[in-house]
Amino acid sequence: MIKKYDYLIIGQGIAGSSFAWTSYFNKKSFIILDSQEKNSASNAALGIYNPITGRRNSLTWNVEKLFNSLEEFYLNVEKTIKKNILFKKKIYRPFKDNRDYNDWNLRLENDKFKKYLSKIDSSGILTCKSGYLDVSKYLSETRKYFKSIDRYKNYKLSNNQVIIKNNRVIIKEFDAKNVIMCLGINQLNINYLNKIPLRAVSGNSIIAETNFNSNHIINKKISVINTSRKNIHAGSTYHNGFENNGVDKLLNKLDEIIKKEYKVKKINFGIRSASVDRKPLVGKHPTIDNLYIINGLGSKGVSQSPYCSKELFNYIELNKNLDKEINIERFIT
Ligand SMILES: Cc1cc2nc3c(=O)[nH]c(=O)nc-3n(C[C@H](O)[C@H](O)[C@H](O)COP(=O)(O)OP(=O)(O)OC[C@H]3O[C@@H](n4cnc5c(N)ncnc54)[C@H](O)[C@@H]3O)c2cc1C
Repeated sequence: MIKKYDYLIIGQGIAGSSFAWTSYFNKKSFIILDSQEKNSASNAALGIYNPITGRRNSLTWNVEKLFNSLEEFYLNVEKTIKKNILFKKKIYRPFKDNRDYNDWNLRLENDKFKKYLSKIDSSGILTCKSGYLDVSKYLSETRKYFKSIDRYKNYKLSNNQVIIKNNRVIIKEFDAKNVIMCLGINQLNINYLNKIPLRAVSGNSIIAETNFNSNHIINKKISVINTSRKNIHAGSTYHNGFENNGVDKLLNKLDEIIKKEYKVKKINFGIRSASVDRKPLVGKHPTIDNLYIINGLGSKGVSQSPYCSKELFNYIELNKNLDKEINIERFIT
């Protein structure tokens, strides 16, 4: 007999994992399907969550809503899987020049910024309410946990498995009230979804062995995290398109920051999917009643996915309005 689920979640990157945990904590039935694509963005992510971002060091979009609940979300996952995945760390940002130093001093006097700034000295600033998620462990432990309770299946979705009947989507072999597509950039390959605009932004990160040590994440053009006493995770690069071409650039920047020997252990490559206005893409398909997406998380999947999952879940289950800024309706005419 075919099992019936509340949710069929396709894609188990950061987005699909967050929606699965949201369903789990709300006691809904679901099954996750994933094909473990090797160039998915989540496979390369450093996992940093950081309230002050971008070239202009601005407060990130929706900072209050996103940062009020994100640590709690991952701590609840930690309690369930009984593993540490979230590490709270301050970010140290060396000043680039006098102007940069003055700009940070101005931010220190600004009430909106104050709670995210920790300390300033003559060489740099420490910002707080930040840290990193060990994304690789988060994904593998999520997979392991949901596999153990029969809620995960290795499966590659292709167009011939997608059937549309009476304005509803049916994925062959699965019976679910709702289908949530969390396919990252691969959404472009699926009919019915390929009209939603997505931009590919590829990037690299590396894992290296070194005796460089810092309690804080260092941010100077790239970010460097000491993930253990001997290991660092460093990144990232940004390239508009699908090419894997950022490693040399990354290594040059790493040399400037750590000024020590290191041995590269792993080079990661992933393709981010971003929206035109750089905000997430969440919501219901314009004509198919039970088909939804979470996508467009760009370079901020860790901080944005718990919020996007909660918004979509409340929209489906409680009929609540979806945050207009993330609703895919803005791109559908
Ligand atoms: C180098 C780099 C560094 C980054 N650093 C950070 C960071 O520090 N902090 C941060 O917040 N974000 C970071 N990001 C961004 C982050 O990785 C993304 O925002 C996030 O991973 C997007 O998650 P996703 O689940 O939407 O997409 P993806 O990670 O692309 O996941 C899509 C999933 O769908 C599955 N899938 C695809 N096609 C199919 C199919 N046909 N059938 C079944 N399954 C399928 C894939 O296997 C995959 O698991 C970084 C990205 C890169 C590339």
